[in-house]
Amino acid sequence: MDSEARTGITLSVVVPMFNEQDALRAFADRLRPALDGLDEPYEVVAVDDGSTDKTPDLLHDLRADWPQLRLVRLRRNCGHQAALTAGLDRADGAYVATIDADLQDPPEKLGEMLELARRDGLDIVYGVREDRSSDSGFKRHTAGAYYWLMRRLVGRQVPAQAGDFRLLSREAVEALKELPEQHRVYRLLVPWLGFPSGEVRYVREQRVAGETKYPVGRMARLAVDSVTGFSAAPLRVATWLGAVSFVTCLLLVVFSLSVYLAGMTVPGWTSLFVGVLFIGAVQLICVGLLGEYVGRIYTAVQRRPAYYVAEDTADRAAGRTGR
Ligand code: UDP
Ligand code: MG
Repeated sequence: MDSEARTGITLSVVVPMFNEQDALRAFADRLRPALDGLDEPYEVVAVDDGSTDKTPDLLHDLRADWPQLRLVRLRRNCGHQAALTAGLDRADGAYVATIDADLQDPPEKLGEMLELARRDGLDIVYGVREDRSSDSGFKRHTAGAYYWLMRRLVGRQVPAQAGDFRLLSREAVEALKELPEQHRVYRLLVPWLGFPSGEVRYVREQRVAGETKYPVGRMARLAVDSVTGFSAAPLRVATWLGAVSFVTCLLLVVFSLSVYLAGMTVPGWTSLFVGVLFIGAVQLICVGLLGEYVGRIYTAVQRRPAYYVAEDTADRAAGRTGR
C-alpha cells in the first residue's frame, strides 16, 4: 500500500476529543500499552475539537515522552463527525482506526481488529457493542430505534449497535475521502461503501470521567442528518400526507354541501375547527421537511470546509504549514 510505503506506519488511531481533560490520562494509560504491545509502527492522531479546557495542554505534555502521539488541533469546535473527518484526512497509516477518548471503547480490541482485517483481507472491521447496560435506558432505547430505522433506510449492511469504533483499510479511507458531502455520518457512510467487512464484539463500558458530549439536541441532529443524508423517503411521506388530506378535504366538501342543502348549517363548528387545525399541521410538517432538505442543499452549495486545522504537530515536524 502506497501510504505504508510513504510513512511506514501500519496503524493510525484517530481519537476525536472535546473537553476530555478528565478522561485523557486514563485513556492514554490504556491506549499506549495496547499499541506498544502490537509491535507495529503506529501513530495516534488526537484531534482536539476546539476544547476549551486543558485537553490540548495535556496532549502536548503527553507528547513529550510519546513520540507516536500526534496532535491535530481544530480552530474551534466543529463536532464529532467533523473531527473524525479531520483525523481520517490526515492519518497516514495503512489501517486507520477510530476510537472515543472516554474509554467506552476498549483500546485493547484494536489489535484484534487489525489481526482480523489482515487475516481475512477485510477493509472494514466494526466494533459492535454486545452489551450496553452501562448506557442509560433513554440512550439504549433511542439508539435501538435509530439503528432499526437506519437499517431500513440505508440497508441491512448497516450493523446494529456499531458506533464510531472501527478499523478501516487505506482503500476504505481513500473512498471516504472522495465523498464530497460535509454532513457526514460515518456509521452509515462506511457500511454504504460496501467493502468486505467483519466485526469484533465488545462490551460498552462506562465513560471513565467527564460528561457526555452528546446531549439530546446533538443526538437529534445526528438522527436528522442520518435520515436526510440517505433518504428522500420523508419527502414522499409529505406527498402522501398531502394526498390523504386532499381526499379527506374532498369528502368534507361533499359532506358540508349536503348539510348546507339540508338546511342545517349552524352546527359544524367543531369539524371546521378540527379541519383547519389538521390542514395547518400537515402543511407545517411538510414545509419543515422541505426545509431540512433545502438546508442540506444550502450547506452543500456553500461548500465550506467541515473543519479548520489550527495546528498539526506532524506538519511542524515535516516543516509543512497550513491545511
Ligand atoms: N467529541 C468531539 N466533538 C464534539 C463532541 C464529542 O470530538 O463536539 C468526541 C468526544 O470527546 C468523545 C467522542 O467524540 O471522544 C464521543 O463523544 P461522547 O463520549 O461524549 O459521546 P457518547 O459516548 O456519550 O455518545
Ligand atoms: Mg462516550
